[in-house]
Amino acid sequence: MARGLLRKSIYKSPAQLRLMQAPGDAATAALAAMASAVRPGVTTLELDAIAEEAIRSVGGAPNFMLEPGYRHTICANVNEKVVHAIPDDRPLEPGDIVSLDVGAVIKGWHSDAAITVALPDASRPDRTERIERLSHVTEQAMWRGIARLATASHLNEVGSAVADYVRAESDYGILEDYIGHGIGRRMHEDPPVFNVPVSRRGPEVKPGLVVAIEPIISAGGIDTVVEGDDWTVTMADGSLSAQWEHSVAVHADGIWVLTAADGGAAGLAPLGVTPVPIP
Ligand code: MG
Repeated sequence: MARGLLRKSIYKSPAQLRLMQAPGDAATAALAAMASAVRPGVTTLELDAIAEEAIRSVGGAPNFMLEPGYRHTICANVNEKVVHAIPDDRPLEPGDIVSLDVGAVIKGWHSDAAITVALPDASRPDRTERIERLSHVTEQAMWRGIARLATASHLNEVGSAVADYVRAESDYGILEDYIGHGIGRRMHEDPPVFNVPVSRRGPEVKPGLVVAIEPIISAGGIDTVVEGDDWTVTMADGSLSAQWEHSVAVHADGIWVLTAADGGAAGLAPLGVTPVPIP
């Protein structure tokens, strides 16, 4: 078998890029619905139902449920829970920091995105400042990684952009075991998208590349443990954590964030990048 001839290109055609907008829009809707519902007293199971309704109302299906053994629309990572945490019935509390990770599939094409929400605690201004700062730095690290796609020649420049920013702004830990990825016909495809500098240049950044860029940052160390449910990943040192993620397409005229209502315009403007809709 000529494996080389059968190996699929990581680069999507213009028509395929256009098909990825609908699942992107579904994830955008789910993130918006959760963002307007999240507050102290709400459970992550309630947010899961809200996200599922948002996805199904636009004709999509939650794609996390396609992962063997996973039964939910979102992962909801509260405080020291960092990724892949299963939604539960614990009401969120003031002072919590929660990342909400969601994806959708439409006509066989996938999206993947996450936001972090810091819930202020008026009685603990130090805690409030800490969680807001952690989320802010993580989000801005994501935008720097996305912005770098607009000019990068190779994909490893994204990880350098993410890490340069985090290290200039903080002494936070950048998790290395959980990384971004290509996305398309499957939620997780080649190529890997690192959040730290790596020596291999990775693939060329050129039209047709679609990647999920997702820095996962902790306020402490970078070691993690997988809990007994075989899903929930928790910081080994109990430190707070945050995750932001977007699915981003590179096309002939520029880059476009598939999982943001404005294509990423607001997040990218301060970095001098203007996203362009997929032609
Ligand atoms: Mg992802």
